[in-house]
Amino acid sequence: MTLNGKTALVTGSTSGIGLGMAQAFARQGVHVVLNGYGDVDAAKAQVAAVAAAGVKIGYHDADMSKPAAIEALMAYAQADFGGVDILVNNAGIQHVAEVDQFPVERWDAIIAINLSSAFHTTRLALPGMKAKGWGRVINVASVHGLVASTAKSAYVAAKHGIVGLTKVAALETATTGVTVNAICPGWVLTPLVQKQVDARAQRDGLSNAEATRQLLAEKEPSGQFTTPEQLAELALFFCSPAADNVRGVAWAMDGGWTAQ
Ligand code: NAD
Repeated sequence: MTLNGKTALVTGSTSGIGLGMAQAFARQGVHVVLNGYGDVDAAKAQVAAVAAAGVKIGYHDADMSKPAAIEALMAYAQADFGGVDILVNNAGIQHVAEVDQFPVERWDAIIAINLSSAFHTTRLALPGMKAKGWGRVINVASVHGLVASTAKSAYVAAKHGIVGLTKVAALETATTGVTVNAICPGWVLTPLVQKQVDARAQRDGLSNAEATRQLLAEKEPSGQFTTPEQLAELALFFCSPAADNVRGVAWAMDGGWTAQ
């Protein structure tokens, strides 16, 4: 595979799935633009530790809920990296509450970060990709882009939305060298999910291990988490020539969750 020298922007890449994807691209010789909050230096160090020789690692602190900040992020990628060849829309948050209890501010934040941000990055990245004749947009959706669960209205709406955006953008680029696809993970043990394990443990008076077992048993037939590394391998496949004609899919990696 000849991804060497291309540039990937991975939103929300200081943690979890995004960090795993950034590491996988850097290992392949892809320059990486990181984004997200928390321990940025640790994330940079973790990517640098596995990067191939010559890989440039950048960072931009754009708040993905803010269109103007996203424009600044894309301008930074253009100025310092010559644009984005591989766009991974990954930044995401969760909030759990039933519809009639759902805080309006959390609804707006989830739609902005988990859905609208991907519209903004994609609209800004596509012209450059089309001009170069090659590009990959990979949207980290979720099984919740395909099916619903209770108490996750904003998340499920945003993830169904990003699957729809994926299909439209894939159709609009279908005759070009740019492909647009979505990945739909089931449970992945990241900080986003650990919070849900902790809430269950507290609510039901369970140990971490038992709360984890119950969380998996409820939805995921394999009883296993998917790992960021496995998801990153799927992203690399989308970037390979074998996937040149994979367009507009919402590809589940979910231990059988959506097969039920
Ligand atoms: P995580 O909490 O480990 O990482 C989220 C990342 O997004 C972090 O880098 C965080 O700093 C960043 N982020 C949050 N708000 C941001 C903002 N306003 N601006 C910029 N960056 C922001 O979560 P994760 O589990 O790795 O989730 C990554 C993606 O995968 C999300 O879109 C999530 O919905 C999706 N996903 C996760 C799971 C799972 O089980 N963990 C399953 C399906 C889909």
